[in-house]
Parts: sequence; C-alpha cells; structure tokens
Amino acid sequence: MSEQEYRHIPATGLAGQTGASAGLITCDICEALCCTHDEAATHCPICGATLHLRHKDSLTKSLAYLVAATILYIPANLLPVMQTNTIFGTQDDTIMSGVLVLMYTGSWPLALLVFFASIVVPLLKLFSISLLLYTCSKKSTWNPLQRTQLFRMIEAVGRWSMLDVYVVTVLVALVQFKSLAAIHPGGGALAFGAVVVLTMLSAQSFDSRLIWVAKTHE
Ligand SMILES: [Zn+2]
Repeated sequence: MSEQEYRHIPATGLAGQTGASAGLITCDICEALCCTHDEAATHCPICGATLHLRHKDSLTKSLAYLVAATILYIPANLLPVMQTNTIFGTQDDTIMSGVLVLMYTGSWPLALLVFFASIVVPLLKLFSISLLLYTCSKKSTWNPLQRTQLFRMIEAVGRWSMLDVYVVTVLVALVQFKSLAAIHPGGGALAFGAVVVLTMLSAQSFDSRLIWVAKTHE
C-alpha cells in the first residue's frame, strides 16, 4: 500500500474495533490493508486479488473435509499400517497393535509417543474442529479468545501428526536393505495420511474471524 493510501486510515481510535467496522479489509494474498469505502475495494490495489470480509462458504467447506477425515479415521485405525514378511511368516500391524508391541518390548516412551501422535492427537483435532464449527454455526459468544487459541493450536499441530507415516517410511527404507525381511506400507498408512491432510485442509478452510462475529455484533 502506498503512503498516500495509508493517510485514509486514522492512526488512533481504532483500538477494540474490528477492521470491517472501520471500513478496512486485509488482502488474503499480500496482506495489504485496503479501504472498503471506495469503489475499487472489490480488488486489492497491490496484487489484484479479490477482497472479501469472510472466506466464501468457510463452514461448509471445513465441515466437508472434517466429515471425510472422520470417516477415514476408522480404516486408519482398523487397517494394517504395515505388513512385515519374514521367513517365519507374514505379520500385519495396525497403529494400536504397533503400540502394544512397543509396550510389550519395553519401549514405553516410544509406545506413548506413537499412541499420542497417532491416536489421541488426531481424535482431539477432529473433536476441536467440530466444536469450532458447531459454535460458529450457532453464532455462539462462548469464550472467543480460548476458541481462537484452540484454533491456533490445531493449525500448529497439523504438520507434526504424520509421525506414523514417517515411521513406516523409515522402516520400509531400512528393512529393504536386508534380504531376510520385507516391510510394505498397508492401507491403514494411506488412510492415516489422508486423515492428517484432510484435517489440515479443514482447519485451513475455517475462517477464524467467524469466532468473533457474534461477539462484535452484541
Ligand atoms: Zn493483495
């Protein structure tokens, strides 16, 4: 934004106000602050992107990804994430059986890590996004600050939940060097990866400004 355009915006008196009520809008692409008063406000003066106060159909898109992720969470836990072929036979391991094997062999810290990263965290994420979508669709005024913090946490956790897929990938790569055993990733790993990606897309489609809509319209 040029210096001249900045002069339209009063430096003081904006505390506690929303951008929309002050006639301001942020560009999603270049994050330039634009005025909504003039006619050219439908497009960003810097990069030309379309300006909108809210993401279009944010709740619907987010819900669609969430439903898909919830459905895939079932095969992610029921199907084997990896198949081990040795001279003694073939063994299929689901996430939970992997955790149990780690527990029985005495690797408690690793068992706990896999249990939290692969079972608890995805479940908490699905639950948290459902809570955000439900409260926003009802235009709830309940704890907007805490809900915003919850949303930030979901976004931050997103990229760190691929632990199981990493473990399987590393194991496959390591074991293929030796000819006595072979490990193949199972359908569960694919479903698990899809759950992680879909929850990330769901969080990304969600417009966190909707949390504050009811509060600012009180
Ligand atoms: Zn822009």
